Amino acid sequence: MSTRAFAAHSATTPLSPMTITRREPMPSDVEIEILFCGVCHSDLHFARNEWGMTTYPLVPGHEILGRVSRVGNKVTKFKVGDLAAVGCLVDSCRSCSSCTRGLEQFCLTGAVFTYGWPDKHSGGMTYGGYSEKIVCDEAFTLKVPTNLDPARAAPLLCAGITTYSPLRKWGAGKGKKVGVVGLGGLGHMGVKFAHAMGAHTVLFTTSEGKIADGKRLGADEVIISKNADAMARHAGSFDMILDTVSADHDLNAYLALLKLDGSLVVVGAPPNPQPVNVFSLLMPRRNLAGSLIGGIAETQEMLDFCGRHNVACDIELIRMQQINEAYERMLKSDVKYRFVIDMASLKG
Ligand code: NAP
Ligand code: ZN
Ligand code: ZN
Repeated sequence: MSTRAFAAHSATTPLSPMTITRREPMPSDVEIEILFCGVCHSDLHFARNEWGMTTYPLVPGHEILGRVSRVGNKVTKFKVGDLAAVGCLVDSCRSCSSCTRGLEQFCLTGAVFTYGWPDKHSGGMTYGGYSEKIVCDEAFTLKVPTNLDPARAAPLLCAGITTYSPLRKWGAGKGKKVGVVGLGGLGHMGVKFAHAMGAHTVLFTTSEGKIADGKRLGADEVIISKNADAMARHAGSFDMILDTVSADHDLNAYLALLKLDGSLVVVGAPPNPQPVNVFSLLMPRRNLAGSLIGGIAETQEMLDFCGRHNVACDIELIRMQQINEAYERMLKSDVKYRFVIDMASLKG
């Protein structure tokens, strides 16, 4: 099935139109006409081969939301016309110890990520959501609460789950002091979720212009991270800090803010190593951890939480043809707070 898309053809050239082929739906597959696709900083890292693992052509996009247009004859969860979503994962072995715990992203024999990953069906690589349609097994397709604005719900599929999952695992909630570093796509959802879970929420930002928005989004306090005095006032006081920064920055400055047994959980993925002074961990005993998206059941739990609490993303809707400009603005931390592609623009 021939499908219009936008692709990166090398690390240094702009994304441009390309026609890709999608498989015909198999018995357990759902075909989705994509309405909206969020733009994650990982799309940019991948398109420019910043992690050294890109195969071209690459069709990015893993915050995919649309309407079911066809279903295979064994599909039970979806019918034509339903809203449906696909995040960062499209398959896994479904039987290893990670998969059976609902941690498909850590599948021991290989999770299949939504783009740039070997695709057993086509023999090539998976293609992401910067496209008109996607075909996905219903087991990896999510249900979308109908009370949410679909464009504002799309980025929940990565920015949402990537912040929700660690906040839940490390116990963000009432009586806890939780920091979120960086107010971008992930960070603004981290602030919303930490606030919704009842934690005392503190935003760290490098951008003075984001102070008012930080408070509006749910932060009880906003700290300009370049201000050493403001940082020092919070030394040894945090239960957890969630770090969403996409570029080089000093992890030690945040470790110093944790109390005994506090955790700095890194989800941002800067391409370079980030040095850690072990004394930042030893005294007082502190944890440095990482987290990768979330499993399928937890992603559904997060979407249902958003439906119940009316939580969605703050977005700037763009046309597919504006993607290269959007990447440049994302690099300047100039996005409020997630670009979402209106996929109708691909047809026009
Ligand atoms: P984004 O929208 O570009 O936000 C990143 C934010 O980091 C910026 O808005 C900025 O916030 C801050 N920042 C940027 N450069 C900085 C610097 N040099 N020093 C300090 N702060 C800086 O990106 P995103 O889509 O949220 O993604 C963030 C990172 O998470 C990316 O590396 C992405 O690949 C990664 N990611 C990881 C997972 C996972 O599963 N672990 C999933 C999705 C994305 P302020 O302006 O507030 O300072
Ligand atoms: Zn992402
Ligand atoms: Zn597995």
